[in-house]
Amino acid sequence: MKEPNSTGAAVRTLEADVLVIGGGGAGLSAACAACSEGAKVVLLEKNPELGGTTSLSVGSITAAGSSWQKKAGITDTPDEHFADMGLFLGSVDHRDNMALRRVLVDHVTETLEWLKSIGLAFYGPMPEPPHKKPRMHTVLPNSRAYPYYLGREARRLGAQIHCNARVVQLLQDGGRVVGARASIDGAVVDCLARRAVVLASGDISAARDLKRQFKEDLADVQAINPNSTGDGQRMVVQMGGELVNGDLMRPPALRFKAPARDNFLRRLPPWRMLTASMNLAMRFVPNWIIRPFIMSFMTSSMSPEAAFFKAGAILINHEGKRFTQETGQPASDLAKQPDQSAWIAFDDALARKFSGWPHYISTAPGFAYAYFPDYRRTRSDLYVTAQTLPELARKMGVPQDALTKSVQSYNDEVADNANGRAPMREGPFHALGPIQAWVILTDVGLAVDTHHRVLDRDGTPFPGLYAAGSAGQGGVLLWGHGHHIGWAMTSGRRAGRFAAQEHELSRSTR
Ligand SMILES: Cc1cc2nc3c(=O)[nH]c(=O)nc-3n(C[C@H](O)[C@H](O)[C@H](O)COP(=O)(O)OP(=O)(O)OC[C@H]3O[C@@H](n4cnc5c(N)ncnc54)[C@H](O)[C@@H]3O)c2cc1C
Repeated sequence: MKEPNSTGAAVRTLEADVLVIGGGGAGLSAACAACSEGAKVVLLEKNPELGGTTSLSVGSITAAGSSWQKKAGITDTPDEHFADMGLFLGSVDHRDNMALRRVLVDHVTETLEWLKSIGLAFYGPMPEPPHKKPRMHTVLPNSRAYPYYLGREARRLGAQIHCNARVVQLLQDGGRVVGARASIDGAVVDCLARRAVVLASGDISAARDLKRQFKEDLADVQAINPNSTGDGQRMVVQMGGELVNGDLMRPPALRFKAPARDNFLRRLPPWRMLTASMNLAMRFVPNWIIRPFIMSFMTSSMSPEAAFFKAGAILINHEGKRFTQETGQPASDLAKQPDQSAWIAFDDALARKFSGWPHYISTAPGFAYAYFPDYRRTRSDLYVTAQTLPELARKMGVPQDALTKSVQSYNDEVADNANGRAPMREGPFHALGPIQAWVILTDVGLAVDTHHRVLDRDGTPFPGLYAAGSAGQGGVLLWGHGHHIGWAMTSGRRAGRFAAQEHELSRSTR
């Protein structure tokens, strides 16, 4: 079927029962669930490949009462998980959407078991304080396994998946959302949904305009996923929808520049034989054999700990100047520096201190710890050392006088040892960099109800429109590891199922 659009060009149409927008964890889970309800599903993904932020993540899912926990003899419940999530939030606990937190803890475990049933493998459960029980499960061999298995399952169940398909507008008819207009491989296509649309288009971490509305200083900070441009949020806000808890967006994070080549773990394919062997190896092979492989991941993907700065590491910009109080919010100040990048400088006393437990530079909680020698060995691209500060400055490529002055004024500042930071006096001196400021993710989703229906500013659902994952976060605060992916897949599955049941449910009051 073809009709002219406003520019006179022919508009193709695609028809489905359920239209899913976005091919990350939430969208693919929604597509699988809707297909399982017997719906004909079309999924549109703007990138050439599936995966979104989901495939850039570490890949952990936190869940209570899992088969992994049972195998390890751990008794755990959704109620305990619910209570522990509040411990991460402290004074903003009251801002959480408790109804959606309940949805997450009550359903994430079945999500995890379903992921296992379609081929995904996990290692765990691992501890992550303040969770009182170990309940973090990490995907093997890396998060690319998600789009691989979810995409395969969605196709097996009959979903029609289009990549290079960017949705530009939601289509409404008499107030009901009936589909979306997309550009697919350059052609304008109207995708009509007989039952409902599921919006699963990710977060706003690369959307300058939306970030600016809530946190001016985050607007220009680069995002880990430059494709997270908040398309879904913007389309729904224009229709009268609402974004929730934007003012609680977290500050940017520090991360070292990525290595030229993916680390060893990121390069592994998601084959079952391999993940089964990895699981065994991580349990039974001596740590000294496994550790170097894990370290390549740790020193590429994890942020340096605040404890490193509290102990005396300082941040130096490309002018050789110290620009921040490192024990505060250094990433926010780093974002204002030239190139949004800097060096971490420290002396040999600190290097020796951070060479063994309990003084680690970075960690994947409960899983692995990276020390100074790990960075020196696995990230030689980041590391310079010299006997004197002028020589260190030369190797860093910063003005010698400026660095020497910066270190001197830092030493004066900490001379009375008031805040427990050590002076930087003992050569050889070391520097790691460049380190950069990044928006890792943004918890700014559309308002939704517990059936994942998108709400307008009066709290009334837009008929025919559901949202899941980051786009449909609805104000639930997912702090701590493993709650975002748990939410993406859990809300995705539920939204997909409810969307597929829409023709039946719209007749009942629910
Ligand atoms: C470095 C890093 C590590 C992380 N580690 C973890 C972790 O270990 N555990 C955890 O729980 N969380 C983690 N997270 C967060 C987690 O990955 C995300 O919150 C989650 O994957 C979001 O899933 P999603 O499906 O909502 O979005 P995405 O995975 O981003 O999927 C959205 C998709 O929609 C597509 N899209 C957007 N706009 C359009 C459009 N207009 N038309 C068509 N398609 C569109 C995008 O291209 C994308 O593919 C991490 C994040 C980062 C950046």
